[in-house]
Amino acid sequence: MTPKKKLEYAVPKLKDFSAAALDKAAEKLLAALEYEAEEVVTLLADPSTPAPTKNTSFKDFRDRWMARKNGIVTQINESWLKSAPPAAKRDAGRKVNELKTRVEAKMSEVQERFVFFGRMSPEALVSLDKLASPQSAQLGVDAQHIDVTLPGIRRPLGAEHPVIKTMNEMVRVFRNLGYSVEEGPEMETDYYNFEALNFPPNHPARDTQDTLFIANQESKPLRERLLLRTHTSPVQIRTMEKMKPPLRVVCPGKVHRNDAPDATHSPIFHQIEGLAVDTNITFCDLKGTLDHAMKEMFGSSVKTRFYPSFFPFTEPSADVQISCIFCGGRGYRDGGPCRNCKASGWIELLGCGMVDPNVYGFVDYDAKKVSGFAFGMGVERIAILKYGVDDIQLFFNGDVRFLEQFV
Ligand SMILES: [Zn+2]
Repeated sequence: MTPKKKLEYAVPKLKDFSAAALDKAAEKLLAALEYEAEEVVTLLADPSTPAPTKNTSFKDFRDRWMARKNGIVTQINESWLKSAPPAAKRDAGRKVNELKTRVEAKMSEVQERFVFFGRMSPEALVSLDKLASPQSAQLGVDAQHIDVTLPGIRRPLGAEHPVIKTMNEMVRVFRNLGYSVEEGPEMETDYYNFEALNFPPNHPARDTQDTLFIANQESKPLRERLLLRTHTSPVQIRTMEKMKPPLRVVCPGKVHRNDAPDATHSPIFHQIEGLAVDTNITFCDLKGTLDHAMKEMFGSSVKTRFYPSFFPFTEPSADVQISCIFCGGRGYRDGGPCRNCKASGWIELLGCGMVDPNVYGFVDYDAKKVSGFAFGMGVERIAILKYGVDDIQLFFNGDVRFLEQFV
């Protein structure tokens, strides 16, 4: 074991946040980075370094610079950016970002060396070492002696993302009821996203969906302008255009709204919508289908109830609540009120209704002969309930520590 080296560099607290002072501090940090990286690479390339030492020294190096808690990158973020006076924030932010990129680049460079030298046998490394010295170029062939019997680097098997997993589970419930699956484009025209769904221009309901429009389309007529779909309902229109009743489809997919991200909102989320059109479909069929689907997803003891609501493309419309899965619908648990249902015993989960006859007009169905229902639900909302997640952002941050729990 080599004795632990004393680490010289420490992130200084800045008093002066001028551009010149930041440059100077950055220069020192980069010099330290170069020096320490060089040290680790030398150690990795040395054939006499035992494998565990290589491991520890690479990991120490990585943690020292990149650890979320107290790594050097975190430290400069705290003491150079967050502590900067408002006037210097912009410059400091730029500098810290630049340094972050440099540290990350250096880290992947060192990691490559780590992987490379970690896989080679000591003999091959000796040869490589000799090869590097000018007088022994003839030993080049030995450098090919990579011990193929050494175990490789095992890559962890991936797993379904909890949102996709939940979406697939829901799709399965409806497939078992005879529904087929349809998908459509994420970038839609105003016509499919709004107009054909009975949202006429200037209809107030358009304001409830903060839409992200594609820029520079003012010269096009409104119905042709492109936007990121705010719901998966356009897929229903596209499906009805190409298929005649009887029809039973579910449309899973990603949707976008101009919402600021917080614990319950995200500019990207997923929906599953369903549509059934046939002769003599009634509200009873809708209730029976959704009651069955909720029991499949949350357990047979779950109850459902329907509340009047409004959606432009269904009439009548309803919100569906399920009995609280945390308190069994009692409204209290552990001797206090249930937080999940705010002591009401019910949780609102999805919207639904009978397809508005106006919609049939857009797709050439005879509204006098057919009737149908539609429903839609947010996938993240269901995943949050199923897995007890308290922040929707966790689904999108890509933090492996969170995702590993679903393997
Ligand atoms: Zn409850």
